[in-house]
Amino acid sequence: MSETLALFGTADDSIVDGPGIRFALFTQGCSRDCPGCHNPGAQPYEGGVSTTVDELMEKIRANPLLAGITLTGGEPFDQAAPLVKLARRVHALDRPLTVWAYSGYLFEELEGQAAGLAARELLHECDVLVDGPYVAALRSLDLRWRGSANQRIIDVVASLQQGRPVEYDA
Ligand code: SF4
Repeated sequence: MSETLALFGTADDSIVDGPGIRFALFTQGCSRDCPGCHNPGAQPYEGGVSTTVDELMEKIRANPLLAGITLTGGEPFDQAAPLVKLARRVHALDRPLTVWAYSGYLFEELEGQAAGLAARELLHECDVLVDGPYVAALRSLDLRWRGSANQRIIDVVASLQQGRPVEYDA
């Protein structure tokens, strides 16, 4: 599996992409073209900054205040292979960090066969998934950790144990 991925950018100490201080990485490339996309520069699959899992781990290890990492984009599950490796290494740290991911895919799509093996492996390595595309008509500033009301914040571990999507209890 590849160790290299294309990023639109990172937010090294984000406080808006999940609980606590988080290292958020924005992958380059997304096929959805949601009207009102919050990150249009991350849509093209061309461009972005090439980086490696090792380089990201160096930055993550350097910040002892991190509560976790957040994979967002763009569409992180379109670059699932290197992100599986990153997520596994983050979970294996002496002080394990949580892994959150945002995706335009639904939990059920990622857990099914269609999304592919790497995407399914990445889902299984996540603690929480915020799923579904951004829908501008359902946007609300009252929503925590999500942009539009259709998106779900899913406790992945509980969902896999119970065989159905279980909402994350913040
Ligand atoms: S899924 Fe996210 S990055 Fe992709 S087009 Fe929609 S809002 Fe933009």
